[in-house]
Amino acid sequence: MKDVALLGSTGSIGIQTLDVVRANTDKFNIKVLAAGTSVEIIRNQIAEFRPETVIMADNDAGRLIKDQFTEITVLSGQDALKESVGSSDIIVNAIVGFAGLPVTLTALNEGKILALANKESLIAGGPIVQKARMTKSAMIIPVDSEHSALHQCLHGYQSTFNEPSQSIRQLILTASGGPFRGLTLQELEKVTLDEALMHPTWNMGPKITIDSSTLMNKGLEVIEAHELFGVPYSEINVVVHPQSIVHSMVEFIDSSVIAQLSMPDMRLPITYALNYPNRNDSQWGSINWHQITKLEFEQPDFESFACLKLAYQAGETGQTAPAWLNAANEVAVEAFLQHQIMWVDIPHLIADVLDNYDGRQAIEENDIYEADKQARLVARKIMERK
Ligand code: MN
Repeated sequence: MKDVALLGSTGSIGIQTLDVVRANTDKFNIKVLAAGTSVEIIRNQIAEFRPETVIMADNDAGRLIKDQFTEITVLSGQDALKESVGSSDIIVNAIVGFAGLPVTLTALNEGKILALANKESLIAGGPIVQKARMTKSAMIIPVDSEHSALHQCLHGYQSTFNEPSQSIRQLILTASGGPFRGLTLQELEKVTLDEALMHPTWNMGPKITIDSSTLMNKGLEVIEAHELFGVPYSEINVVVHPQSIVHSMVEFIDSSVIAQLSMPDMRLPITYALNYPNRNDSQWGSINWHQITKLEFEQPDFESFACLKLAYQAGETGQTAPAWLNAANEVAVEAFLQHQIMWVDIPHLIADVLDNYDGRQAIEENDIYEADKQARLVARKIMERK
């Protein structure tokens, strides 16, 4: 029986993680649940999974939960989140955005298995997360479907993910292309929030759904792949695959390509991450081969979807540039969700923010928080001027 701390339990990945645990109560015990403000959802989760500890980011939400469940420990705030990591075997980081960084670092520094759905922490905190990753017994198992695919394709080919195998020619990340695939720049000027929130193949939360529509999600995933597998940016490529069945591929130097396929269902990569290095019986994502008629691939449109290029540039720059990219994107996406800017403004705002990048080195944890803060300040200043 493995004890699991599920941080971000009321979001899309959190809910699907509980689906996996529910189907495997003999293997996994939910020891900690953490959420932000969603009292209604977490009430039901507590009643069903009976965790020892519940953490609410919001103090008022914490009080409501405390009053109802007197037999469990209810805590609030960032420190509680960090402390909660120690007592579990597996930490599922399903927090949304940069706010997930302290959990990622604490989990790795304590030598835990980190099932990572929060890509932003790895992207923004790159050099610092890499140091934490050197901790004995610490391990990141990616939950992101593309990186889970790469992890599976690479299994057995690498002794350590810190030393990329000489036998890899390229990593090929697949992208669905999002709801606006094939639209021209002119057509993209008119797209609405509702249209951006309609993802053709994946059912996800609002932040990542908007990121998918701009291809920033794929850009962030390029950086994530670089950080996870140590492969240079020049050997990480993106190919659009509208069916979302091939989740990513590795081409080896003998030209052989290994791919991982399944129907798009996040419960499969979650199952993989929780059970690694073993495989567990599960039907999520199972392909009905009678229904698949075609698997298509095409090149991404770097001109209409400028976020992808911006991500490669920030990744190549390294240090705290990815933290700036991520912060600028979080501000831009939030502004778009609040109807403050248009969809086409998202890459423009991010590019303007990155023009102000101060070149700060990522030497200690605080450098990342400072970079994030600085980039957000710059982003808001630019928005005010417009
Ligand atoms: Mn993904």
